[in-house]
Amino acid sequence: MPGFELFGDLERKEVNDVLDNGVLMRYGFDGMRKGHWKAKSLEKELQSTFQSNHVQLVSSGTAAVSVALASAGIGAGDEVIMPTFTFVASFEAIMMLGAIPVLVDIDDTLTLDPKAVEAAITEKTKAVMVVHMCGSMADMTALKTVCDAHNLVFVEDACQAIGGTYEGKPLGSIADLGCFSFDFVKTITCGEGGAVITNNPEYYKNADHYSDHGHDHIGSDRGAESHPFLGYNFRISELHAAVGLAQVNRLKEFIAIQKKNYTVLRDALAEIPEVTFRRVPKGGEESYAFLNFFLPDLESARKVVETFKTNGIDACWNYYDNNWHYVRKWNHLKDAKSLYPLSSEIKEELEQLKSKSFEQSDHFIGRNISCLIKLSWAEEEVRQRAEMMVSCIKDAINS
Ligand SMILES: *Cc1c(COP(=O)(O)O)cnc(C)c1O
Repeated sequence: MPGFELFGDLERKEVNDVLDNGVLMRYGFDGMRKGHWKAKSLEKELQSTFQSNHVQLVSSGTAAVSVALASAGIGAGDEVIMPTFTFVASFEAIMMLGAIPVLVDIDDTLTLDPKAVEAAITEKTKAVMVVHMCGSMADMTALKTVCDAHNLVFVEDACQAIGGTYEGKPLGSIADLGCFSFDFVKTITCGEGGAVITNNPEYYKNADHYSDHGHDHIGSDRGAESHPFLGYNFRISELHAAVGLAQVNRLKEFIAIQKKNYTVLRDALAEIPEVTFRRVPKGGEESYAFLNFFLPDLESARKVVETFKTNGIDACWNYYDNNWHYVRKWNHLKDAKSLYPLSSEIKEELEQLKSKSFEQSDHFIGRNISCLIKLSWAEEEVRQRAEMMVSCIKDAINS
């Protein structure tokens, strides 16, 4: 998945443009820039890449989620439904606004289960945040139906599925707001960076102002701009945007490489009767950033990961025991270990989380193995890897 694997001259050229004129900030300094507006240019590129009317670049994917929620007016006391399997950024971004993260089960897509979402809705629910984990998507039609029926804001975290599509639309562009990360390990990277995309002009205006201290960005004198509402600083720098500008043009190339490598591995593993694959909803096409498959039970999944490790197959994980991506080990969250006081509503929800069990999520995450698809593998390397994976899985199952 990582764009850093194929980093080179294109990236260097874009960054040098910025270094040559010395304007490292995305706003202002019009005269000094010699026409270089890297953040603005990247936003334009991303509009066409993600087929979305508006793009706001920000400093990270985590910032993108906070900015997206804030732009839709979500804050203190509002419940936001999110999955048990995601990156910790999801609840961090929700809680930063004083909103309440409500965790619900995933299904065999490894993303939000629409039935579990519906069951978790209360009168305080304001938004549903779907997270397209490990290169593939949720059942977006079903989730959109639930959101529409309950008048909820629908937010899409596509940080791990850049380049995937659903019914022909880029992931991230389907819900009311989409969020992307361009951190160092994502499919395209800025080093650090993120984006909010939307077709809603009001949400876009809010995202534009909120991510820059509430500046209205009218006129060409920053000091004289007015602040229609409170904001924060989630700006991306020109240096980071420059890297992204080189990478975004390579997205098609990256996805094609991922698909080729993914297909070799998948075809090999499909020969093993005990192996099944994550469900990709009808109309969906993965980004091929990861290959996800199920084994019959937790024990065999753990055994396979161990066997992979001893045989040099890296970058494959069983997330059941992972403390970054799955609810089981989020003890700092369950124990409300915050540096500053949290609202009583958030503390109550987190207290309940301690004793909540997520059997359906355990059922899928316990049996799942997720393998990163690298861009830098040579053809022969992928073939050997596929053979080794098959033999490891057979050994582990039969031992
Ligand atoms: C990487 C990631 C984020 C956060 O992105 P950063 O740019 O690292 O802050 C959010 N959600 C998911 C699913 C991610 O994988």
